[in-house]
Amino acid sequence: SFPPDVVPQAPEDPLFGLMAAYRADPFDKKVDLGIGAYRDNDAKPWVLPVVKKILRNDPALNHEYLPISGLESFTSAAAKLILGADSPALLEKRAHSIQTISGTGAVHLGALFLKRFYPGQPSVYFSSPTWANHNQIFSNIGIPIQTYPYFSKATKGLDFDGMKQAIAAAPDRSIILLHACAHNPTGVDPTQDQWRELAALLKQKSHFPFFDCAYQGFASGDLARDAWAIRYFVSQGFELCIAQSFAKNFGLYGERAGAFHFVTGPSPDAAKTISRIGSQLQQLQRSEISNPPAYGARIASLILNDATLFAEWEANLREMSGRIISMRQALRARLEELGTPGTWNHITDQIGMFSFTGLSETQVRELRDVAHVYMTKNGRISMAGLNTHNLEYFARAVDRVVR
Ligand code: PMP
Repeated sequence: SFPPDVVPQAPEDPLFGLMAAYRADPFDKKVDLGIGAYRDNDAKPWVLPVVKKILRNDPALNHEYLPISGLESFTSAAAKLILGADSPALLEKRAHSIQTISGTGAVHLGALFLKRFYPGQPSVYFSSPTWANHNQIFSNIGIPIQTYPYFSKATKGLDFDGMKQAIAAAPDRSIILLHACAHNPTGVDPTQDQWRELAALLKQKSHFPFFDCAYQGFASGDLARDAWAIRYFVSQGFELCIAQSFAKNFGLYGERAGAFHFVTGPSPDAAKTISRIGSQLQQLQRSEISNPPAYGARIASLILNDATLFAEWEANLREMSGRIISMRQALRARLEELGTPGTWNHITDQIGMFSFTGLSETQVRELRDVAHVYMTKNGRISMAGLNTHNLEYFARAVDRVVR
């Protein structure tokens, strides 16, 4: 039998633990800046109007299994969305796309594939810091993890020199995990010039770029702009892979709509190579999840494949990203007006769902104990948790703990 002490108690997931603590707090002015999910100006989850519109009873709808690779109309539209319809990788048929359990499942499938097939058992390099689940996923699969510097505490921006030095010092052919846009947790992205430099460096080192893209269209409000780095790397002939999530940009968090894309470099053998890679991805998928969930993929597919709905979706994206950007401006302005010690330009320099405030663990603790403000202990706030009703309260609470 299973002795009782063989399985130790696992620690609670910090983020989901934070959510539970927030829900249990009866204080009426409590503020939730923890989870990375969009909220409207009344702190409520937002079903995108374009999504709501197509949620109708379809008498022809059944609940059959999807194919192992998922819904083809979804994966092909997802590939066009991230790579660009005119991508050389698509025109030359050297990309393979497979539907996954949202972004998490895509990262997982990619890691599993690389562990099995990438020559030389290399390490993966993560930005320091990165999305906490990257560590768990890659260590479960047994890929050794290293990090590259990313966030500069001094500037609250990118430590570009540190990043380049570490990537240059990594053994050739390492796996380099990159956030395509709206870096989680810092909100700090390289500029386009910096991406060009990074591409040249990765090329020189024959590294393998693994892009994680969880916020396309959500960061800047412009789908092409948020995919720029990936498209640039593809234009430079890289072999690479992409984990794509539709949780944030469609507001389909719980539906687990995502895709994994593998792009091979241009070569006479590309078609054969991609066909073999695709066959292995399918086999891995079969043993992991058999086939992916249908509902979210159907919704995304309907919108992605209809020009009118697509345009409405873009407007919804601009509404979400626009509200977040206006909250950034308002928070910075208020802290500056209050004369809160420190500099606050990073709040508007950073982009996407999150801001790395620079608040210390002690200050975060104090904000929670005294003001009922919930945020992760690394000082990250989900910008979507702020709205015109709670911004003043939050700014004053920050002002108090910083002084
Ligand atoms: N990668 C990053 C960097 C993320 O921030 C997220 C969402 N928190 C994901 C992947 C995947 O999320 P999901 O599985 O909900 O698509």
